[in-house]
Amino acid sequence: MTETQADRPGDLAARKRELLRRRLESAGLAHTPARAERIPPRPADTARLPLSYAQSRMWLLQQLDPASPAYNVCLAIRLRGPLDADALRTALAGLLARHEVLRTRYPTADDGTPHQVVDAVAELDLEETDLHGLPPDERDWRADALARAASATPFDLTADHPLRALLLRRADQDHTLVLTVHHIAWDGGTFNALSRDLSALYRAAVTGADAGLEPLPAQYADFALWQRTTFTDERLAGHLDHWRTHLLPPPRPLDLPTDAPRTPRPTAHGDRRFRTFAPEVTDRLTAFARTTGATPFMVLLAGLAALLHRLTGATDIPIGSAVMNRDLPGLDRLIGNFGNTLALRADLDRDPGTAELVARVRTLCTDAYAHQDMPFDLLVERLRPERHPGRAVWFDVMLLFLTQGLQGPELPGVSVEWETVHNDTTQFDLSLEAFLTGGRLRIEATYRSGLFTPETVDRLLARLETLLAAGLADPEQPVSRLPLMSGAEEQQVLTEWNTTARPVPGTTLAALLAEQAARTPDAPALTFDDLTLGYAALHARAARLARLLVAHGAGPERRVAVALDRGPDLVVALLATLQAGAAYVPLDTGYPAERLAVMIEDAAPALVLTSTAAAHKVPAPAAPTLLLDDPALRERLAALDPAALSDAERLAPLRPEHPAYVIFTSGSTGRPKGVVVPHAAIVNRLLWMADTYRVGPGDRVLQKTPASFDVSVWEFFLPLVTGAALVLARPGGHRDPAHLAELIREQRVTTAHFVPSMLRVFLDDPHAERARGVLRRIVCSGEALPTDLAERCTRLLDGTELHNLYGPTEAAVDVTAWPCADGTGSASGSVPIGHPVWNTRALVLDASLRPVPPGVPGELYLGGSQLARGYLGRPALTAGRFVADPYGPPGARLYRTGDIVRWTVHGALEFLGRADDQVKI
Ligand code: AMP
Ligand code: MG
Repeated sequence: MTETQADRPGDLAARKRELLRRRLESAGLAHTPARAERIPPRPADTARLPLSYAQSRMWLLQQLDPASPAYNVCLAIRLRGPLDADALRTALAGLLARHEVLRTRYPTADDGTPHQVVDAVAELDLEETDLHGLPPDERDWRADALARAASATPFDLTADHPLRALLLRRADQDHTLVLTVHHIAWDGGTFNALSRDLSALYRAAVTGADAGLEPLPAQYADFALWQRTTFTDERLAGHLDHWRTHLLPPPRPLDLPTDAPRTPRPTAHGDRRFRTFAPEVTDRLTAFARTTGATPFMVLLAGLAALLHRLTGATDIPIGSAVMNRDLPGLDRLIGNFGNTLALRADLDRDPGTAELVARVRTLCTDAYAHQDMPFDLLVERLRPERHPGRAVWFDVMLLFLTQGLQGPELPGVSVEWETVHNDTTQFDLSLEAFLTGGRLRIEATYRSGLFTPETVDRLLARLETLLAAGLADPEQPVSRLPLMSGAEEQQVLTEWNTTARPVPGTTLAALLAEQAARTPDAPALTFDDLTLGYAALHARAARLARLLVAHGAGPERRVAVALDRGPDLVVALLATLQAGAAYVPLDTGYPAERLAVMIEDAAPALVLTSTAAAHKVPAPAAPTLLLDDPALRERLAALDPAALSDAERLAPLRPEHPAYVIFTSGSTGRPKGVVVPHAAIVNRLLWMADTYRVGPGDRVLQKTPASFDVSVWEFFLPLVTGAALVLARPGGHRDPAHLAELIREQRVTTAHFVPSMLRVFLDDPHAERARGVLRRIVCSGEALPTDLAERCTRLLDGTELHNLYGPTEAAVDVTAWPCADGTGSASGSVPIGHPVWNTRALVLDASLRPVPPGVPGELYLGGSQLARGYLGRPALTAGRFVADPYGPPGARLYRTGDIVRWTVHGALEFLGRADDQVKI
């Protein structure tokens, strides 16, 4: 069904309508006195008959896309019994004779504007198709196909009459009459007028008696002329004022969660889904309307607005509706488009309860009805709202409530059943038509199939019912607290998609490193330029330094700052710090001095490890500084026995909950903050990766990320806990694609990390091909991985796996992962960030910490083994970002990421943006 095929929303029974009129009057909003007017017949000499406003709009829309059947209305009327086809033909001809609008064309004048040409009484060509010789199955199939074809054939309004009829003969006593009408001559009130006349005319044709039809008060063209001449600026001024205030500045288009990315030119392709509400929900809705002086339409509109608010986070919710505007005497007997579109915007500000929201919507609608005479198209013309590409004017969601039952024709001796034939088009992103049938509310949703899947629309309708049921049961409850999901669905997002438990040894990174060194003492551990160190050699160097660190007071819960360029000394310094049981704090000497000063102040290191070249860039800390390239120190270290550092001196007191490193993140504003990551967290992260990506001896992992970023943590230690080799890029070389490609090929690097923007630069470089056949896997993280880039990468480097990982420093590097082999597309245009890793919980919550349904954006909260302890020396900041997990066991914490994500229906996460910028929630 179509846009204006509705009665006044939530049609009021006569008594109610009178009540509304009085209420409007007392509010100074009485309908214009014009209601008592009659439409005068047009003067016989009217030279060029204008189109009504509604017709103009239909004409223009059709002209914009002449091949589109989007404005066709098609009815399939099944007629069982002895049908007199000749009488039917006569009746249809009589219908055309009676209603000029059915024999009107709309040619264009020289200036490009259309006008009406009413043809003298015209024959209707009732095309007949005989299907009765076909087997029953094929007959049904053919009949459907013919009806759909009829509904999909566009009208040329400049030349065609707007009604086509087709009679399908299925059997002697079984026919389908297919009527296709253009919306230019049709609205929701038309069907009953047509049925009434067709019935009378058919009966008359069969019996030879007079049809006894009351003369029409006017013809549609009279109405059009009357509307054009009486709807003067003066008469419309008050209405225009109302709408100007209501609609300007225009609302932001709704960011409905879609299944596919929006395009600037969406197609009109549409489909339909249905839902019938439970009887008790329907009863609650109608009873609530009754007791609050609202209409069922208003209550449903409130529910829909609340749902759209919850799905988008917007508080200004634009929704369209329509009125029939057939109030003038006798107009209900006319065929034609009298409808008018209403642009409504519901106010969800300050989180109202359902009762309050319905009250707001009632006022909204009452005001709108008082000003419904303002033709929508004239309104658009006058207000000229800012347009958004791919969006309709003012609203993309429509709600209609059909209150008047539609009456099919009654033909003597023939049983009649009818249905609308859908031609797979839609005018809006989503339009809902509701009607009450058998005591239940039934909703028919027509949706843009380029944006939504049928399952999404089904879920949307289910959520509308869940939310309305709860809101009506507890009308004071703020809508933000109403449930959107069934219990089973909630279980799915909270538990099923977080089934990540996996036993991981309760050990430390230091212990894992030592165990690996003991397993493969002679295997290559580290390569830098021409230098290669075996595991035993590397660990011996680290052990000597560790001894010195312990002597300087390094140990669990103490920190060692490391300010070194990439090179073997850096690796040795990190290993030594871990062996000493302390946490390392990487300092990037490229940072501004003030920033380094703040970091050193917060870190309060027991020691600073640096080099002669870098030392002067480190602001003077109140801690001893060791220059690792100082010949005197080297001599001292060489003299130490690496085995002399006893367990009691180092590893024994170290426990999994002790910090392994402190990495400073800038945060979007303000002072850098040190994230304290315990051993247990990084051990979980490393063992998950080693197992999932099957990293082991034979692998060679490229280390190119500066140590001050946490990606470097796995680049350093994943190889060293798995028996693989660590390949250090030259300082600075990590930004040069040609150098990297060369290094990857020469050093047979199997595993490399790229931030997506760097991956793009890398792939753009002609040298990138050299990595083909060498790299086993590329790991991306740090920013959204665009789908096109992922696809290009897999094409160019076939045979190289590509993985998208996501995580904040506050949760030990990465917490979710997605193999691009499982697909690279998503509605956001970037690769999904996937599923939570071992022993990790990912919750997508709204502002009230309620889980949001799949498809709906929310903020990502993380729980589980990988959470950082907090921010060094910043308890208030820590308390603000690490909160109690309302769904976890007592004591469980969640880290609030500030990232906006959503679940796909298959339980993968999609990254949408940051809460503080792009996406509002
Ligand atoms: P950091 O704490 O410096 O590691 O930065 C973490 C932030 O980077 C996250 O909160 C996200 O905003 C962003 N981020 C990390 N990985 C991804 C990814 N795969 N896709 C999109 N954003 C990411
Ligand atoms: Mg990260």
